[in-house]
Amino acid sequence: MGQFQRTQVGNAELIALQDSWTAMPPSMFFPDIPTDAWAGYGEFLDEDGNITLNLGAWLVASEGSTILVDTGLGGRSAPMSLKEEASLPSVLQAAGVKPGDVDIVVYTHLHFDHTGWNTIDEEGTAVPLFPNARHIVQRTEWDYWTGSDELREAAQYENVLGPIEAAGLLVLVEGEHAVTRELVTVPTPGHTPGHVSFVLDSGGERVYLIGDAAHQPVQVHEDSWCPGADIDKVASTASRKKIFARIEEEGALIASGHFPFPGLGYAVSGEDGRNWRPVT
Ligand SMILES: [Zn+2]
Repeated sequence: MGQFQRTQVGNAELIALQDSWTAMPPSMFFPDIPTDAWAGYGEFLDEDGNITLNLGAWLVASEGSTILVDTGLGGRSAPMSLKEEASLPSVLQAAGVKPGDVDIVVYTHLHFDHTGWNTIDEEGTAVPLFPNARHIVQRTEWDYWTGSDELREAAQYENVLGPIEAAGLLVLVEGEHAVTRELVTVPTPGHTPGHVSFVLDSGGERVYLIGDAAHQPVQVHEDSWCPGADIDKVASTASRKKIFARIEEEGALIASGHFPFPGLGYAVSGEDGRNWRPVT
């Protein structure tokens, strides 16, 4: 089963939730980056020379609301080989959160590894797992993934998006939406057209939930490296540079669902540029 880890952020609480994780050769994930470019980055590779890709989500307790940021891979067979079975509901339960406790679900974007536990299968029907939650999606992102049959299928519309819409749980928003006064949307387009990050700002402490603005800690330094999955690599690079500069300037914490668990750390500049410094 996946892990969880609590962090206090001012008056709010942030819980890193691990749905699953995987590992793969860096060239598979970053097809444009030659293997020898990784020569100086052994610290980010495992003993087999692979990158570790955590598959995570976040729980935020802010101003009386229980907010889930992304919903992981889900219980259906995933289109990638996993090191552990996806287990977000059990991880939530271990953290003391029942599905009915979740008031709000928000998304960084609508890729399959961020929407999967929207629903569970009940006798062949996909039913919402978080029936009391409004599910907040950026309109640009929703319009993109529902814009053609091919994209609807890629987003598993029938199983994970449609049932939320049909149940009246879908709320579409635009731009810098305030989920609570402490948790605010920061648009970071490029990985997908409506991709967003979130800043949690409470009691003088600040953390950025960066979604898929970056997937690997090496990108804090190599901020022009794009994974194959970035839809618009010019835009994703611009968003990555902008948000890491902002995070470093503010001395804020980074929370990444794809960096090795728990994916918490800082962006710190030295003589050789900006680097990832994990919180251990
Ligand atoms: Zn992702």
